[in-house]
Formats: sequence, structure tokens, C-alpha cells
Amino acid sequence: MDLLNTLVDKGLRRELPTREEALAVLATSDDDLLDVVAAAGKVRRKWFGRRVKLNYLVNLKSGLCPEDCSYCSQRLGSKAEILKYTWLKPEDASKAAAAGVAGGAKRVCLVASGRGPTDRDVDRVSKTIEAIKEQNEGVEVCACLGLLSAGQADRLREAGADAYNHNLNTSEGTYGEITTTHTYQDRVDTVQQAQAAGLSACSGLIAGMGESDEDLVDVVFSLRELDPDSVPVNFLIPFEGTPLAKEWNLTPQRALRILAMVRFVCPDVEVRLAGGREVHLRTLQPLALHLANSIFLGDYLTSEGQAGKADLEMIADAGFEVEGAGTTTLPEHRADAAAGGCGSHAGASGCGSHEEAGCGSHGSAGCGPCGSGVSEPEAATVPEARTDLVSVRRRGAGTDLAPNA
Ligand code: SF4
Repeated sequence: MDLLNTLVDKGLRRELPTREEALAVLATSDDDLLDVVAAAGKVRRKWFGRRVKLNYLVNLKSGLCPEDCSYCSQRLGSKAEILKYTWLKPEDASKAAAAGVAGGAKRVCLVASGRGPTDRDVDRVSKTIEAIKEQNEGVEVCACLGLLSAGQADRLREAGADAYNHNLNTSEGTYGEITTTHTYQDRVDTVQQAQAAGLSACSGLIAGMGESDEDLVDVVFSLRELDPDSVPVNFLIPFEGTPLAKEWNLTPQRALRILAMVRFVCPDVEVRLAGGREVHLRTLQPLALHLANSIFLGDYLTSEGQAGKADLEMIADAGFEVEGAGTTTLPEHRADAAAGGCGSHAGASGCGSHEEAGCGSHGSAGCGPCGSGVSEPEAATVPEARTDLVSVRRRGAGTDLAPNA
């Protein structure tokens, strides 16, 4: 297939595909799915071999957020029956982090609900980072605390944070339909502040919110321009009690095409399979390892993932290996650029999600490739609402029960 040969060549050279090529990947038919995965898999293996980086989420503060992000179970007015608690003590957060590290995670992602941290919150998180670093040699720590004010990224860096996560989530054009309490530009500014402070930037998206193919391509091209070291790809978990509870738009095949598109546009970046993988990829999860080089181990912020042991078995069965603490995640050219500073991306690669995250294929018909040689898209399968697969987190951080790691 001409399209896939072109995309592989470009991915191996780190060359940006055209928007039409990215759209064409999303428009491929199920008959072509394995060819798409195999092609993007070549790009993934060129830059990351068969390694899978494991990341572990610790939800430092859960629920009761004043912001109105429609996809989020922690939002203002959310009726989702999630765990709600205020800041975990550093020792409790460190204990939760240690369980993830013992399970094979090389990065811990510290997440707190809210618009953004106060300076006192930054002090609190700094103590938590110090406690985690002291007790877990070599672990990478990413913070995800919302919008940052001046100087806060520098303070987190000084406390030992390696990375900062803030997702763009969706295209600039549709951002206002998803959230009204802050803007897309606010998010871009925070990612750039983190980069300027020498933190490794982690910024990604949520698919399945009713967006079009063009929106998905827009946000992924914007991410490429922003140049984070890590791009988490979340698939919306439509929580009961949130405005997007009825948005069951994804099929496993669609989720794989989205991941392949992200890999072609961001070939040498850590592409992280994030929230919603169990719910939307289901039994096709192992195929996603050919596209993403990084996943979260165990549970998410407010929902439960599959057992950590099952994650490890899946990686081994699919012929991949867990990336060791001594291995640099990023390819040499990116890692060198990060180490060199230049006021931008530092440290290793990056992180999770301030939210949980779901093929919003609405309106995407007809954006097929011109002369790309791919088969005609089939009539779209109507995805099932798999509410049976959404389970609210009741263990780990903020509870007396052992975490899933
Ligand atoms: S994504 Fe973050 S800022 Fe938005 S509602 Fe959820 S916790 Fe609040």
C-alpha cells in the first residue's frame, strides 16, 4: 500500500506526514488494520525496539474540582461515585508509589485534581517528590497538577521532578465545547512553562469525545509542534454522572488506527497508551503494544485498570519487554537534546493524565485519502456501550486497601 510505505519511510526519517496522510490512516478499513499496525510497528521498533515503559499513577487529591472538563469524573458537578479525598500525606503517597515501582514502573506520575496548585500545594508536592526519590532510587517523577503559575515549574524541578504532564486533550477548535473554565491556550502555556523550566514535557489527547477525524489530526499536529517528550493517548471512559457518559464512539479497531496515526506523526516520541485501554481495546490490547512504547501499570486515577500482573503477562506474551530503570527511554538524538538543556526538554520522557480517559468518528466521513491506494472505509460499526467494563477505583491511594500494581 503506497500510503503505508510512504508513512514508514517518513517515520524512519522523523519526517512529518501530511495532514492528508494522517487522515488517511484514520480512514483505513478494518481489512487493512493489520497492515496499518505492522507499518506503524516498524516505526515504533526503529526508535524504541520492543521495550515497554511502565508508569504508575498516584492520585494525590481526588474529586471536588472547580473546573468543568466534560470528560472528567472529578469535575464540578460530577455525579460519578468516585473516591473523594484531599492531599495524601507524603509518606502515604510514597508508599503507593513504591508499590508501582516494585511492580516494574520506572516513572511515578503524581496527579492532583484542581485548576492548578497554590504555592502551598507546590511545597506539599515537593516534599512528596523528595520522599519518593529518597525511597526509590532512580525512579522518575512526573507531576500533573493543572495550570501552573509563574515560578512553579522551576520549584518542582528544584524539588526533583523530572517531568510535567498537561494534556491538550482535543483540538483548539473544539476545546470550548469540552471545557469552559479554562482555555486551550492556558494548556499550551503550562506545557511551555514546564519545558522552559527544564522539565520533560508530557502532553497528549483524549479520543472518543465526539470529535471528528480532523480534530484528532489537529490536536496531534499541535502536539508535534509543541514537541513534548511523551504523548499519552487516552480513550474516553464515559463515566456515568458526567456529560459525556453516552459517548461510546470507539471500537478496538478505531482505537488502534488512532494510535497508529499518533505514531506516524510523532515517530520518535514516547507514545503512551493511557486511560481507557481496557475498556476500548479490550482483547486487542496486545496489538497496541506494536504502536505505543509505554503504558500505565495497574489502576488509573478514578477507575480500575486490569491487574498489574495481567499487564506484565500481556507484555511478555506479545513478545515485548519491560524497560529497565537503567535504560534511557528516548532515542539518543532526543535524549541528548534534553540533557543539553537549551531551556527546553530535559530528563527522560513523560506522563499521564490529569483526567481519566475514549472513535469519535462523528463528521469524519469522507476525509479519505486521495490516490493512497487504501480500500474504501466500510460502513461504521456502531460501538457497544461497555459500561460493564467501567469500574470506579476503590483500592490504593486514598483507601486502606492495597494498590493494584
Ligand atoms: S481534568 Fe483536571 S482540571 Fe479538569 S475537571 Fe478534571 S481534575 Fe479538574
